[in-house]
Amino acid sequence: MSTHKLYYEDCHLSEFTAHVVSCTPTEGGWHIILDQTAFYPEGGGQPCDLGNINGIPVLDVQEQGEDVVHLCAEALETGAEVLGKIDYERRFDLMQQHSGEHIVSGFIHAKYGLHNVGFHMGADVITIDFDGIIPAEDLPEIEAKANAAIWKNTPLHIWYPTEEELPGVPYRSKRALPWPVRVVEFPGVDICACCGVHVAYTGEIGLVKLLSCVKFHQGVRIEMVCGGRAVALLSAVYEENRQVSHAFSAKILETGAAARRINDALAAEKFRVTGLQRQLFDYIAASYADKGDVLRLEDGLDPAGIRELADKIAEVCGGMAALFSGTDGEGYNFCLAARQGDLRDLGKELTSTLNGRGGGKPGFIQGSVKADKQAIEEFFKDKMRNHS
Ligand SMILES: [Zn+2]
Repeated sequence: MSTHKLYYEDCHLSEFTAHVVSCTPTEGGWHIILDQTAFYPEGGGQPCDLGNINGIPVLDVQEQGEDVVHLCAEALETGAEVLGKIDYERRFDLMQQHSGEHIVSGFIHAKYGLHNVGFHMGADVITIDFDGIIPAEDLPEIEAKANAAIWKNTPLHIWYPTEEELPGVPYRSKRALPWPVRVVEFPGVDICACCGVHVAYTGEIGLVKLLSCVKFHQGVRIEMVCGGRAVALLSAVYEENRQVSHAFSAKILETGAAARRINDALAAEKFRVTGLQRQLFDYIAASYADKGDVLRLEDGLDPAGIRELADKIAEVCGGMAALFSGTDGEGYNFCLAARQGDLRDLGKELTSTLNGRGGGKPGFIQGSVKADKQAIEEFFKDKMRNHS
C-alpha cells in the first residue's frame, strides 16, 4: 500500500485527517507513515512541508518508495485517526516561488534555448542557474512577460501522459525521462516534468521580481523573488529609499542622481581639504626648523596624516619627530621619524611602557598606544634633545 498524496489533489489543502499505518523509532524521533497526507516531501528542489500531526511537530518529510515518511518528535498509535495541519503560510510561499521559477525558466527556454540546471530556494531569495548567457539588459523584458503571464490567471494543467503520448509531449528537461512522467504545464508559457507542488492558477503567484543576473560557471545565475516575498522586499527597499530621499532632500525616484552628486561633492571637498592640510603641515613643520627633537600631539589626524606631518617635521627639525593623534579615552596613533639614527629601541620602549604596538624601520616607526596625553609627555620627558 502506498501513501495517498493529497498534496497532488489539492495544493491548497492545509488540514486533513488520516490513519496511522506505521510508527517506528528512529534517530531524532519517530518515522510515521499515514494512509494519506497533505505534507509534501522534499523533492524537485522544493523543501518539505512542516507543521504538526495531532499537535506533534513534523520535523522532516521524505519520500521512501511509494510512501511519504514523516519524522515526528513523538510517537503516534498505529491505526489511530489523526489530524494533520501543515504550515500553510510557508507552503504557499514555496508554491509562489516554485511556480514563478517555472514561468521564468519557461520564457528563457523558449527565447534562448537555455536549461535550468540548478535551483535553490533560500530563506530570502531564490536562484536559478542557466547553462548559457542571458544579457542582463534583457531582464526587464523577461520580468514583464512573466508578470503578464501571471496576471492572465491561467489554470495550470498537470497530467501523466500515456506511454504512447509521452514522446510527443514537448516538456522541458535536459534528458528523456522514463515513463510515467508528471507533466506540469503553464499553458502558453512552460511545459516541464516536475514532482513539486504548484499554485492552481498563475494569478496566485502575484508578482515576479528579477533581482540580478551574473555570470556563473558556463552560464548565468538569476536571483529572483515572487509573491509575498517580492512585496516584502520591495516594501523594505522603498522604506530605505524613502529615508535616503529625506536625508538627501531628493525626490524618491531621483535618489541615485542625488547620491552621485553628493559623492562627487565629497570627492572635491576631500581634494580641497588635502591641499589645505598640506599647506598647514608645511606651516607647522617650518615652525620646528632646527629645533631638535619634537613631540607634538595633534587632533584629528588619520594614520596617513600622522605619517605625512611627522615626515615633514623630521625633514627640517634636525632631530626626531614624535607625532601622536587620538584621544585619552581611545588611545593614540603615533609616528616616530628621524633622518639619522635608529629609532627602533625607542619604539619598543614606547610600546611596552605605554601598552601599545607598532614597528617599522630605523628612521620610521608607527603604531598605537593605549595611554593618555600625560603618560605620553611623561615618557618623552627625559628623551628629548632640544637645540633651543
Ligand atoms: Zn514544478
